[in-house]
Amino acid sequence: MAGASIGPTVCHTSAAPVVNSAEVIDMEDRNDIIVIGGGLAGLVTAALAARAGSRVTLLEGHALGGRARTTGHEGFGFNLGPHALYEGAELMTTLAELAVPFHGSAPSTRIVLEIGGRVERLPVDARSLLRTGAVTGRARVATASLLAGLRSGRGPLPTGLTLDEWLAERRLPEEAAALVRMLCRVGTYSNAPDLIDAGAAVLQLRRAVRGVRYLDGGWQSLVVGLADRAAALGAVILDHQPVVGLERTGRRWTVATPAGEHRAASIVLAAGGPEVAARLLGVEPAALGAAGPPVRAACLDLGLAAPTRDDLRFGVDEPLYYSTHMPPARLAPEGSVVVHVARYLRPEERPTAATRDDLWAFARRAGVGEGGAEVRAHRYLHDMVVAHGLPLAATGGLAGRPPVAVAEAPGAFLAGDWVGGTALLADAAAASGRLAADLAARHAAAVPA
Ligand SMILES: Cc1cc2nc3c(=O)[nH]c(=O)nc-3n(C[C@H](O)[C@H](O)[C@H](O)COP(=O)(O)OP(=O)(O)OC[C@H]3O[C@@H](n4cnc5c(N)ncnc54)[C@H](O)[C@@H]3O)c2cc1C
Repeated sequence: MAGASIGPTVCHTSAAPVVNSAEVIDMEDRNDIIVIGGGLAGLVTAALAARAGSRVTLLEGHALGGRARTTGHEGFGFNLGPHALYEGAELMTTLAELAVPFHGSAPSTRIVLEIGGRVERLPVDARSLLRTGAVTGRARVATASLLAGLRSGRGPLPTGLTLDEWLAERRLPEEAAALVRMLCRVGTYSNAPDLIDAGAAVLQLRRAVRGVRYLDGGWQSLVVGLADRAAALGAVILDHQPVVGLERTGRRWTVATPAGEHRAASIVLAAGGPEVAARLLGVEPAALGAAGPPVRAACLDLGLAAPTRDDLRFGVDEPLYYSTHMPPARLAPEGSVVVHVARYLRPEERPTAATRDDLWAFARRAGVGEGGAEVRAHRYLHDMVVAHGLPLAATGGLAGRPPVAVAEAPGAFLAGDWVGGTALLADAAAASGRLAADLAARHAAAVPA
C-alpha cells in the first residue's frame, strides 16, 4: 500500500530543530549527556534531562519516533500495529508532567470472544458475567473473584511463577484459566504463558482494568510533543544521525556518527533492544542482564469505509486480536474507520503466508469486506517486535531485567522497553528513560569539565 501524506490534522512531523554537521562539531564538547535513539525512551530521557538543567544532544539514526511512529496510507493514519496508552501509568504521567498534550478516548467495551467455535461476550462486570457463555458454572465464580482481585489492585504479585504455573496453583477451572491467558495476551502482547512471569502479567492486567486510550493523531502526536518539548527545554535533537561507534577515553565518551564526533560525560543508549546497545558498547547482550526474548506480533492495519459488526473481537483459543481504533480516536477523515488486527506470536514462531490469511479471515469474521465494510487501505507487518524483553519467571520477572546503569561501563545508561523493573511496553520505555535521565545527569555533574 502506497504511503500517502495524511494531512496535518491527523499526522504531524517533528518541529524539532535539525542542526547541520558543522554546528554539530562545534557543539561537541558542550554536552553533559548524549542520548542515542529518538524513540519514546530517548525522547523522554532528553526532555527530562534538559529540564533538570543538563546539556543534552539526542542522535536518532532515522526519523524520530521508532516504534511509536504513525504513517499515512490513503488518508488513514496507521500506528505501527495496535497502540493503546495505559491510563495513569508511567508514560501518561510523564507526558502530563512535561506538559506534552495528548488527546484520545477509551475503546468500546462491546467485546466479543471467539471461543470453542462460538462467539460470546467478554464478561466485564457481574451482569455480563451471568449472561455470557464464555464461562459457565464454577468458572463463573472463579472469574468473578479474579476480576474483583484485579480491580482492587491489591495483594502480592505472583513473581517467580510462570503464568501457567500460577493458574495451575490457583486450581482455576479451564474456562476461567483460558480467559485469563487471553486477557494477559492482550495486556502484555505476549503469547508465552509457559514463560512469562505471572507477577509481570498480573501487574499489567491490574493496569489494563484501569483503562487505556486510543490517541487522536496516533502515537506520532506523542513523538512530536516530546521532541518539541525537549527542544524547548534546550535539548538538541538530531535525526538521521546514526551512531556508528562509541569510545570511552578517561572519564568522557566519544560518540561517532558519519557527520562527526560528539563528546559527553554520560551516554544513554535508547536505541531499541539489547543487541544494538551491546554492539555499540562492544559487549555480549547477556552482559547487560537478562532481557528475555522479544515479544512479537504479526499485524494487519486496515482503513475502512464504514464501521464493522464487531468493535472488538478477541480469540480465546487462537491468539488473535481485532480492535476498532477510529472511532473513538481521530486517525482519518470523519466517518472513516481504522482497525488493527494482530496475531500474538510465540517466541519461536515464524509467521508464514498462512499467518496473513488467518488475520484476513479473522477480520472478515468481524465484518470486514465481502458484504461488510469496504477496505480502502491496508498494511501487513509480518513480524513486529512489540517489546524487546519478555519478563521471564525463570529470571525473577521484571526485577530480573537489565538495570539502567551499565556496571562495566561507567557513565553509560540504558533505556527502553526491555530495561528496568517497574513496567512493560512503552511504560517501561518511559520509566527507564526517567531513571536514565536522572543517573546520567548525576554522573555528568561529578565529571570535571
Ligand atoms: C505492534 C506494536 C504494538 C504496540 N502496542 C503498544 C501498546 O498498546 N501500549 C504500549 O505501551 N506499547 C506498545 N508498543 C510498544 C511501544 O511501541 C514501544 O515500547 C516503544 O515505542 C519503544 O520505544 P523505545 O524508544 O524504547 O524503542 P524504539 O521505538 O525502537 O526506538 C529506538 C530508536 O533508536 C534508533 N536507533 C537504533 N540504532 C541507532 C543508532 N545506532 N544510532 C541512532 N539511533 C539509533 C531507532 O531508529 C529508533 O528510532 C507496541 C509496539 C508494537 C510494535
